Parts: sequence; C-alpha cells; structure tokens
Amino acid sequence: MQTTIESIVRPIALIADSYRAEPAPGLIVDRPLPGPEVDYVSPFLMIDHFGPKPVPAGRSGGLMPHPHRGFETVTLLFEGAMEHQDSAGNHGVLRPGDVQWMTAASGIVHAEYHEREFAKKGGTLQGIQLWVNLPAKHKMDPPGYQDLTASRIPQTAVPGGVARVIAGEFGGVRGPARTHTPMLVLLLNLSAGGGARIPIPAEWNALTYLIQGAATIGSSRLRNRQMAVFANDAGEIAIEAQAESDVLLLAGEPIDEPVASWGPFVMNTPQEIMQARKDYASGRMGELAAR
Ligand code: MN
Repeated sequence: MQTTIESIVRPIALIADSYRAEPAPGLIVDRPLPGPEVDYVSPFLMIDHFGPKPVPAGRSGGLMPHPHRGFETVTLLFEGAMEHQDSAGNHGVLRPGDVQWMTAASGIVHAEYHEREFAKKGGTLQGIQLWVNLPAKHKMDPPGYQDLTASRIPQTAVPGGVARVIAGEFGGVRGPARTHTPMLVLLLNLSAGGGARIPIPAEWNALTYLIQGAATIGSSRLRNRQMAVFANDAGEIAIEAQAESDVLLLAGEPIDEPVASWGPFVMNTPQEIMQARKDYASGRMGELAAR
C-alpha cells in the first residue's frame, strides 16, 4: 500500500504569475504570494523576490526601521550583502547563501540595510523574503532571531542537482531552522535534465516557486517566477529541470485559524490588529534609531 501511495505525484491546484509590488518606497519585488487567486498557503503568507538588482557604488539603501508582529520574516540572500538591526539588540550580516529567520512574534522593530562595504562598492543584490505565520498561541511570544549562515545549511544530492535544507527534513538531512509548526523549506539547484521527487504529508500545504530557469512541476511547465500551489492530496512533488534551475519548495502543516493582516502586522482578529497599531505607536514594540 505504501509504495502505491509514494509513487503518486501530487496534483497542482493552481499556477500563479508573480506581479510587481512596492512594499516600501523604492523596494521593487516580484510577488507570487499573496495573489489574485490565493491569499496565503498556510503557514506561508508572502513570497517577495527582490533583484537581481544593480546597486550603484556609494549609495546606502534598504529599509529604515519598521515594525512587525504576529509572524516570522525569513530572508534568503542569493547575491550581495545585507545588514540587519533590531530593537531586541540583534545585529547581523547576510551574505550569499545565508538565511535569516526572524521571529517577530509579540513585536519587533528592525532595519534591513544594504551592508556598508557592499553599499560602498556597489554590486548586485538578489534574494527572497518569506513571511511565515505563527499560530495564535505563539503570536505574543518574545521575539527571536536565527542567523543561519550558508555553512550551517546542509545539502543533499538529488539526481542532477542539490537540495539545501533550510527547515524540516529531506533526504535524511535536517535543516537548522527552529520552526513553530512543522514545515519543509528547500532550495533546489538542478542542472538541465536533473530532477527531484519530494514526499510531503498529504495534509500539508505545498508550493514551488521557480526562482530562475525552466522546470516541469508534475505535468505543468513553469515559467520564470511562477508559483505552483499543490492540491491537498497524497503524493510526491515531482520536479524536472529543462534548463539549469533554482526552485524554492515550501510545504507545511496548515495553521487552521483566521488571518487578519494590516501592513506589517498579521494577527487573528481586527481587534488584535488595532492593538498592534496602538502598541507600535506607543513604543511597546521597542525602539530602533536609523543608522
Ligand atoms: Mn521587515
């Protein structure tokens, strides 16, 4: 019985294009999630793909201090360098291959700058920021922060490629991220002709996003920067690359709770959103001076 189940390929429920969004003045991203057809794929709320963007030498950039409450921001840097500072006293630099997993929870104020030396020299910046929801019971926990440097993120071989395991377990390898609900976060780099089959529990939500390249997911060909959301059926996720490709795979146990969101806050009810706005305005999420 089990071998029959494992040989099934999980069907796709929808394919969505990215669209241009400007979450902050001057910050242009390609965003496949949320979109016109899908509000979220719980626990995943947002996928913002920034760059590859040329950063001119001698110009500072990035996001000035701003708050978050009720969820986690996960930044995967591919090119360039970023610098993080927050009101809980955390400070870190992200370089290509690094991942920063920030748990805003009850509230944090953070800044996401171009790293100083990188800003001085200029170069190319590219990465993805995910927003990952927290269950109600953890939304008001103290904030947390995980610097997952590239060397800490294990790889496992797949036919014609490699999978980097950021969270959860795949191919006998466990990713370093501590998560609040069970999930799998994978980055696959496949050469032309390479592929992977990834088993996912039937009750978990799952999606793939084609960062660059050309790949067939199940029986559908994905274009650059398209997202495929899978039906909640048993089966493996099947990826075949027609060209050298980078694919993000996100899968997780859904959080079956209402979602109320406003700007940088994601809670369960409109009342909690009002409270978040008041708490930020009165400094209860902490303070951070601009660099
Ligand atoms: Mn932020």
